[in-house]
Amino acid sequence: MWWPSPATDACWRAAVSEPRILVLGGTTEASEFARRLSDAGIAVVLSLAGRTARPVVPTVDVRVGGFGGIAGLERYLQEAGVTAVIDATHPFAARMAANAAAAATAAAVPRLKLLRPGWSAREGDRWTAWPTPTALAAALPAGARIFLAMGRQDLASFAGRSDCRFLLRTVDPLPAEILPAGATAILGRGPFTLEDEEDLLRRHEIDLVVSRNAGGTGAAAKLTAARRLGLPVWLVERPAPPPGPLAATVDEAFAWARKLMS
Ligand code: NAP
Repeated sequence: MWWPSPATDACWRAAVSEPRILVLGGTTEASEFARRLSDAGIAVVLSLAGRTARPVVPTVDVRVGGFGGIAGLERYLQEAGVTAVIDATHPFAARMAANAAAAATAAAVPRLKLLRPGWSAREGDRWTAWPTPTALAAALPAGARIFLAMGRQDLASFAGRSDCRFLLRTVDPLPAEILPAGATAILGRGPFTLEDEEDLLRRHEIDLVVSRNAGGTGAAAKLTAARRLGLPVWLVERPAPPPGPLAATVDEAFAWARKLMS
C-alpha cells in the first residue's frame, strides 16, 4: 500500500504515462474491484476520502483526501492520465457521486457507477421506508430504545429527540458534541455475525432498528437479527444515482472495464 504525501503525489502524476483506472472507494466492493484490476495487470489507483483512521485496503496504489470539488477532480483526471473512473463509493455518498459524474463528463473520461443492490424485505420483516433521516427522526415514538445505524453526517437529524435512547456503533470514536443527547456510543468494525447482532440488540434492550438502505452483506446481519427478534426496522431510502451506466456487482464492473480497455 502506498500513502502519498502531496509532494510524492505530484511526482507520481508527473511520472505517470500509462493509462489507469481511478476507483473511488470507501466500500468493500471498491477494494475488491481495485484488487481485481491490479491482479489482472491493469493500473489502478484507489481513492479514499480519509474518513477512517485505519482503513482496510488492498495492496494497490492509494490516494487519500478530497479532490477539491468538481474542478479539482477534473484536473486530477487530466493530470494523472486517468482513462476511466469507477465510482464505487457508498450508495449514500451522493456528493461524491455527483462530482464524479460532472468531472468525468467535463474531462471526457468514461465513468461507471458500481452500486450494490439495496436490501428488500422478506417474510417476517417489519420494515418502514423513510425518504430522509429528518422525516424518520420526527416520527420516532417517544421513549423508544433505538439502534441508530446511520452515518455521522445524519446524526444532526436526531439531535432534537432527547426523549429517545440511542445506541450507536462506529469504527472510530465520534466527537461527543455530534452525538444525540443521552446516546450510548460503542466501537466496532464489521462485518458482524448474526449472533453478534442478536446479542447487541438484546443486551441494549433495543426496540427499534434505524438504518439507511445501504445494501450489501457487511451490514445486513442486523436486519436478520431484527427479524428473528420481531423488531421493527426503519430504513432511509437511497438517493438516486447520477444518470449513466450502472453495475450492480464487481463482476459487472470488471467486464465493463475490460471491454473499455480492449
Ligand atoms: P460525500 O458526502 O458524497 O462526499 C463528500 C466529499 O468527500 C466529496 O465531495 C469529496 O471531497 C470527498 N470524498 C468522498 N468520497 C471520496 C473518495 N472516495 N475519494 C476522495 N474524496 C472523496 O461522501 P460521504 O458520504 O461523506 O462518504 C465519504 C466516504 O466514505 C466515501 O468514500 C464513501 O464511499 C465512504 N462511506 C460512506 C458512507 C456513508 O454512509 N455515506 C458509508 C461507508 C463508507 P471533494 O469535493 O473535496 O473532492
